[in-house]
Amino acid sequence: MNPEIVVDLAAVRHNVRALREHTGVASMTVVKADGYGHGMVEVARAAREAGSDWIGVATLDEALALRNAGDEGPLLCWLTLPDADWAAAIDAGIDVTAYSVAELDAIAATGRPARVQLKVDTGLSRGGAPLETWPAVVERARQGEQDGSWKVTGIWSHFAASDEPDHPANDAQEQAFRQALALAEGLTPEVRHLANSAAGLLRPSSHFDLVRFGLASYGLDPAPGHTPDLGLVPAMTVHAPLAMAKSIPAGAGVSYGHTWVAETPTTVGLVPIGYGEGVLRSASNAGRVLVDGKQRAIRGRVCMDQFVVDLGGDLPDTGAEVVLFGPGTQGEPTAQDWADAAGTISYEIVTRIGGRLARRYVA
Ligand SMILES: *Cc1c(COP(=O)(O)O)cnc(C)c1O
Repeated sequence: MNPEIVVDLAAVRHNVRALREHTGVASMTVVKADGYGHGMVEVARAAREAGSDWIGVATLDEALALRNAGDEGPLLCWLTLPDADWAAAIDAGIDVTAYSVAELDAIAATGRPARVQLKVDTGLSRGGAPLETWPAVVERARQGEQDGSWKVTGIWSHFAASDEPDHPANDAQEQAFRQALALAEGLTPEVRHLANSAAGLLRPSSHFDLVRFGLASYGLDPAPGHTPDLGLVPAMTVHAPLAMAKSIPAGAGVSYGHTWVAETPTTVGLVPIGYGEGVLRSASNAGRVLVDGKQRAIRGRVCMDQFVVDLGGDLPDTGAEVVLFGPGTQGEPTAQDWADAAGTISYEIVTRIGGRLARRYVA
């Protein structure tokens, strides 16, 4: 066995179906950042097979890569750069997102009939037209529709705190979105959308015509402690062979800086992946893995290519399976457990895993 990432595409399909059923509206599966580390093309294909109506990505390059891989369905991108090749996007039938009059002018300058979605900033203060410029963006969009420059296919926005259901920003943003829609009179978008995974699961009033599901499609929980149990299945497992096991005496320091010192004689195991593969260094002395069926603690610092675990006196054979995380069904930690140990969110755990690891798909 080589260290590898195993991606369960049946789990992705299951999750996509369960989520769509839960909301009862159309769904977009978000596959940016190489499908949150799971593989953009493969996840998009599985999501389409499971009935996802739309695929969403951040960059235009991601969208073009999906088209080059044969994806043909409704596809939205939203993070365009100043020198964006709008013509290439339009020719590929990609829905582009505009935040400003200047971007709409640039799209019109291609002379090609585009599919354009307008993004309004309802309070995240990230991308999107601020409410002050929204009327001008809408006006330019109406003009462009009349002169055949484009069809406005969507109007959308994005939450700041949907993983905290009681956060006051949620109501405020939903209200701002309704106002923005009211100001967009005369435009007839196919889809109005605001919700990501957490809002899709927790806030039915925000569903409108479409929910953009990223994290939940991969079977992970976007709002731990709040989310109803839909039986979502984590799609990613990361495992490696145990490279070595040996005894160390009391007083032995482990890994760089000796941030852990054995109090009693013990045995340790070497796991041959590290932060070069995206195993977060902040999991040093905190993360756990499953070795030969038992959970074991990381001792000392996670290094670039390897880390050490405490085997508590056992000496499993080299080559024994080490599972970093997976769905949890064999007793292994989950990506959420790693997020808790490393002080981050499960999004970062799965998205950062990669580097030298091969990815293997199971259908
Ligand atoms: C990443 C992203 C999503 C998906 O968010 P999840 O929390 O993973 O569901 C949806 N919309 C936009 C604009 C995003 O950037």
